[in-house]
Amino acid sequence: MQHRSNLRGNSPVSIIGAGVAGAWQALLFAKAGHAVTLYERSDAALMHATSHWAGGMLAPYCESEASEPIISRLGLAALDLWRRELPETPFNGSLVVAHARDRADYERFARRTCGHQRLDAAQLAELEPSLEGRFREGLFYPAEGHVEPRRVLPQLHQRIIEAGGTIHFDCDVHSGDLDGLVIDCRGLGARDVEPELRGVKGEMILIETDEVQLARPVRLMHPRWPLYVIPRENNLFMLGATSLEAEHTGVSLRSALELLGAAYAVHPAFAEARLVEFGSGLRPAYPDNLPRITLAGGNVIRVNGLYRHGFLIAPSLAQATLNYVARGQIDNEVMRCV
Ligand SMILES: Cc1cc2nc3c(=O)[nH]c(=O)nc-3n(C[C@H](O)[C@H](O)[C@H](O)COP(=O)(O)OP(=O)(O)OC[C@H]3O[C@@H](n4cnc5c(N)ncnc54)[C@H](O)[C@@H]3O)c2cc1C
Repeated sequence: MQHRSNLRGNSPVSIIGAGVAGAWQALLFAKAGHAVTLYERSDAALMHATSHWAGGMLAPYCESEASEPIISRLGLAALDLWRRELPETPFNGSLVVAHARDRADYERFARRTCGHQRLDAAQLAELEPSLEGRFREGLFYPAEGHVEPRRVLPQLHQRIIEAGGTIHFDCDVHSGDLDGLVIDCRGLGARDVEPELRGVKGEMILIETDEVQLARPVRLMHPRWPLYVIPRENNLFMLGATSLEAEHTGVSLRSALELLGAAYAVHPAFAEARLVEFGSGLRPAYPDNLPRITLAGGNVIRVNGLYRHGFLIAPSLAQATLNYVARGQIDNEVMRCV
């Protein structure tokens, strides 16, 4: 493509969308020496971005249970990029637990994933003292991490500025208005050029209690979707997440019951927690639920379809885009030309 051969290290690159996909593109291109400008139509709080609502789990092993191998490949490579660019990212691992009635699902999960250690009740209690006496066993994935999206996105934006990039919030732009290479990371906002994209609704609840302490995300086996409790700062816990083929926002009573029930099943002390927030986001997904880097011709590259793995895979997609622009390297599994 024309822009690859013409681009030097300091060539201008415009990125549209400051969610996790665009933020990682901006960071890696700025660090590679490009004059990066990131445009975002919301304000810095990004309340309308899917990324604002995410759990932020960096869990390539757990996610491999229900996703294609490409997600694990991108996710594993991304763990190193998170460590390199944000060394303070917590890598405390993650836990999978189940009640006796869901034992068959638990064993299936263990069989279908790798990278875990089996813990008995005593080892589980040693790792997470709050869970003492709650479960007979657990699966521990020590290499996994988690970030708090509402904290890590501003950190990424700060790193972009430190690397010489510029960010314009409250700035609704179209690729046709911009010069140089344009990387379109608009998520569901890109449906004008990506009509196949759909939103997959994920609901979440934020609760607060000082009666339970967790150092890592805890997933509870559930017959319909993976329910989890993720510890946040200041005694907050995020309960997530449903996965519904629906494009309206808000949280249904049924989903709220399931999410709150999952927290209660992890620990009854959550029953006394204060309800802080109910919310939902629409995950941008293609029909195959796989991410795409689309070499759209001219000066435009589109990065989209991060579905339920945006935090996990955005760094690797940014690295792949940069490898293409800098060296013409094609990643056949995620790139396509139109
Ligand atoms: C409840 C829930 C839990 C999740 N948990 C996890 C998890 O644990 N781990 C994980 O890896 N992923 C998780 N995800 C998935 C993850 O949130 C998404 O994959 C990711 O946020 C998609 O990021 P994005 O940058 O592509 O889109 P977005 O975050 O939506 O960003 C797109 C941005 O583009 C901006 N934009 C649109 N049009 C324009 C325009 N014309 N000009 C300027 N800006 C524009 C928008 O305002 C928006 O800020 C979860 C999602 C949900 C809903």
